[in-house]
Amino acid sequence: MAKELTHFINGEHVAGASGRFGDVMNPNTGEVTGRTPLASAAEMDKAVQAAAAAFPGWAATNPQRRARVMFNFKRLLEDNMDELAELLSAEHGKVIADSKGDVQRGLEVIEFACGIPHLQKGEFTEGAGPGIDMYSMRQPLGVVAGITPFNFPAMIPMWMFGVAIACGNSFICKPSEKDPSVPIRLAELFMEAGAPAGVLNVVNGDKEAVDAILAHPQIPAVSFVGSSDIAQYVYATGAAHGKRVQAMGGAKNHAIIMPDADMDQVVNDLIGAGYGSAGERCMAISVAVPVGEETADRLVAALKPRVEGLKVGLSTEPDSDYGPVVSKAHLEKVQGYIDLGLKEGAELVVDGRGFSLQGYENGYFMGGSLFDKVTPDMKIYNDEIFGPVLSVVRTKTFEEAAALPTKHQYGNGVAIYTRDGDAARSFASQVQVGMVGINVPIPVPLAYHTFGGWKRSAFGDTNQHGTEGVKFWTKVKTVTSRWPSGVKEGASFVIPTME
Ligand code: NAD
Repeated sequence: MAKELTHFINGEHVAGASGRFGDVMNPNTGEVTGRTPLASAAEMDKAVQAAAAAFPGWAATNPQRRARVMFNFKRLLEDNMDELAELLSAEHGKVIADSKGDVQRGLEVIEFACGIPHLQKGEFTEGAGPGIDMYSMRQPLGVVAGITPFNFPAMIPMWMFGVAIACGNSFICKPSEKDPSVPIRLAELFMEAGAPAGVLNVVNGDKEAVDAILAHPQIPAVSFVGSSDIAQYVYATGAAHGKRVQAMGGAKNHAIIMPDADMDQVVNDLIGAGYGSAGERCMAISVAVPVGEETADRLVAALKPRVEGLKVGLSTEPDSDYGPVVSKAHLEKVQGYIDLGLKEGAELVVDGRGFSLQGYENGYFMGGSLFDKVTPDMKIYNDEIFGPVLSVVRTKTFEEAAALPTKHQYGNGVAIYTRDGDAARSFASQVQVGMVGINVPIPVPLAYHTFGGWKRSAFGDTNQHGTEGVKFWTKVKTVTSRWPSGVKEGASFVIPTME
């Protein structure tokens, strides 16, 4: 029986009232396992009012007490890791170990947020002028919102609400309608950790809910992660309503392979980063760029048997390398890109289209695919495919290879494999991409650094988590104070200086 899902507003489960619902599927079986409500603007407003009522009390809670809730929440995440991973895997289709990684990377942001008393301290200048002191403080913004994608239903909500709530904001999370159960469970655990009702609300929905957030006059800041066209729409619409917006988008992450690279390491890393989570990661490597024909031949020869040998299976099977993709529509889209690649003249070395898992023929499974001789004018090179497909683009020189990620419309992550420190250093310095790995395939920065791409991979100027996150979720107020010993006689008609 399909489970009836709810919103989580003001500390309670709230049934959908719009009359609109979305199906939640198990991608392993293709069965409908849940029905999630899709909120109307009126339901979104209810959540905003609950969050607005909770805000003054939470903002006035001293930072150490806010941090204690984060410490409790971190422990609850650890205690409930297995349950969260199973819930996540059943709706997303990523394998259990990877689902735990999803929760763990979010948990690490909560660990970072435990340091909020230190992170949110302001600055102070004693004696900035005669009898004058100057200080600044970082104050929370109010009711803020996060709109999240299907592919990290634990980590990405926590990137956002972990930092935003620690800073004293109250929060509305609008998760992906494809896998909404984990965000709801996170909100329950957050209450159990001691957060007051209304501080974290989860409102399920689709475009209507997103538009309600973007137009709501009581929401001053919105964080978004998803595909680029929608990221741009959210950025532009939110900004037109006077909001602070950060909107992370899609990706096409290249790995440059120099002739001197350790080929065993390269192949292991490309297999993991290209096909792990069925390629549905914004930091997946989807383009391998060998430098020189000889490197390319060695690479393709080594990759072919490894791609053919990938173990595609149920997300609940411990020895599956990866599980199904998220939906039937997405499966068809990814397979459509393989048809297109053939039409465009790329060489299909391994074809994953025919794969079907015995007994699970309705699941959204797909074998690993490998293209060779992809060229930069092809659509399969320019578009984000977001599936278990790796494209090899052959280049003659380091300069030609290094220019590719810089010229690409996306600029999320990139990697270079080499033993040449000079090449790696100049590449890292010059490339127009936000996150760079040197002999590291998925350079996702840790929670106390910040995550963010460049170009069409991110709209807005502030990254997720780390001190950039604290900046995004707070506003600075600077106070200049003077006490009687600094007071001068008479009026002054010139702009105050400290001279
Ligand atoms: P998506 O853009 O389809 O959905 C993201 C969110 O936007 C969801 O909450 C969804 O309900 C909402 N949405 C969907 N259509 C909308 C519309 N027309 N108007 C307003 N809102 C809408 O993305 P997805 O398929 O859930 O996630 C995969 C994408 O996210 C990939 O492109 C991936 O690269 C990207 N992603 C980027 C990062 C990053 O940090 N750069 C991280 C993870 C995923």
